[in-house]
Formats: sequence, C-alpha cells, structure tokens
Amino acid sequence: MTTPTQIRGCDFHCHVDLLPDPTAAIASCERERIVTLAVTTTPRAWTQNRKWTVGCRYVYAAVGLHPELAGERHAEVGLLEKLIADTPFVGEVGLDGSTQHRKTLPAQRDVFVRALATAQSVGGRVVSIHSRRAAKDVLNCLSKHTTPSRVLPILHWFSDSASLARSAVLQGCYFSVNHRMLATEAGRAIVLSLPTERLLTETDAPFTQVDGRTSEPRDVIATAEALAAVRGVAVDAMCLALRENANRVFAFAGLDGSLGV
Ligand code: MN
Repeated sequence: MTTPTQIRGCDFHCHVDLLPDPTAAIASCERERIVTLAVTTTPRAWTQNRKWTVGCRYVYAAVGLHPELAGERHAEVGLLEKLIADTPFVGEVGLDGSTQHRKTLPAQRDVFVRALATAQSVGGRVVSIHSRRAAKDVLNCLSKHTTPSRVLPILHWFSDSASLARSAVLQGCYFSVNHRMLATEAGRAIVLSLPTERLLTETDAPFTQVDGRTSEPRDVIATAEALAAVRGVAVDAMCLALRENANRVFAFAGLDGSLGV
C-alpha cells in the first residue's frame, strides 16, 4: 500500500519529449506521483526538457546522445560532455550492435566513452544505458572508464544473456525492466536471475505499447505488479523494494530524501 506522500511508481527510462503531449504527461506524473526519468536522444533536446521539468518533484531530465544517432550527430558530443556537468542524470547513451547500426559502432563508442569519462570525473552520475547486441562491449567500457563509487549504471531494457547480466550485477549495474521484457521467456529468465535490490521499472515510451495504445509512465504500476508475479512475491513487498531502490539511486545522484519511501 502507498500513503498519499509516497511515490506510486518509477519510470526510469521514458522519452517524455517524444510523447504526443509532453507537458500533459509531466503534469500527470506530478499529479500521480510517478517518478520519471525523461531521457533524451540528443543533447540539443536538453534545454527544452530542463525547462519543462524545472520545479518538478517527480520528473527529472537526463542528457543523452542515443547510439542510433551517434554517427550523424557526433558533432554534439562536446555539448553532451558540457551538459553532464549540469545534471546528475545521463541518458540515453550506450551502444547498439544490431545489423542496422553496427557500422557506426566506432562513433558510438567514442560518444559513450566520452560520456562515461565525463560522468566519472564529475561523480554522482546516474546513467541510463542502451546495450542492444552490445552488452559485452558496454560492460567493458563501464569497467574501463567508471568506478561504482562515482557512476551508477542502469541497463535499460537489457536483452542479452543471463551470464552477461550476472557480470553486470557484479559491476554494480541496476536494471530498468519494462513490460515487454516480462512478455518473453528469455526476458523473464533474466529478470528472475537479478537481485531484488537492483531492479527498477521503465516504459521506454513511446516505443512500447500497452493494450494497443502508446505506453505512458503510469504503466509502470502494472509492470511492478507483473514483476511481483514473475518473481513470486507479494505486490506490496515488490513495490516497497522498488521504492527503496529508486531512493538509493536518487541518493547516489545527490538527491537524498527527495522521494518519500
Ligand atoms: Mn529509449
């Protein structure tokens, strides 16, 4: 059960600026107490996202440069580095080794490594990471360029092997889980293998759907319930653990006590 001051859910990876009505979505998160990390795909989008979220209690903007855009927008990497000094939240960054994007991997790696190195030098940075078909490479970059005391990595929509998930746990990674992961056998197996204290929820909206509509941050409430069912625990216990995990992440980012558990 939640009390009126508690957060009701957390969406640790949402493209708020790509939703049909971003300001309405933000107002809804504030009203419904859904903590939301508004990730961005280019650092140029940061200013608008920051403006929308200034004064928000539940919605925070993250500065990113998506690996799928790292080739064509490589010139923005300097802006990304500069803005990482201004916000504890970084994302979406990472690597994409799928057939369609493999050719830009050198540019992707340069952007990702520079984002990680900057986050490491500033410290207290939480990074939401894309790792499709590149999880091993992502973990190598993390171990080479970051330490768990300065950078907290969140692997978003992790879809690689259980053994790489285990390595990621040992490296201090958290995992933001969406309902699409829980819909596949492989996804459920990964989720079952993770320690409770590393679990977070997300939507990756607008890139996922629920009941034929675009998902929205409040859908994480149902994801938390599904997560409890997959792991065979009570919904209340799962929600409490998720709130505690979110608080730990926010405390790492220097925002102690800003979310009521
Ligand atoms: Mn995304």
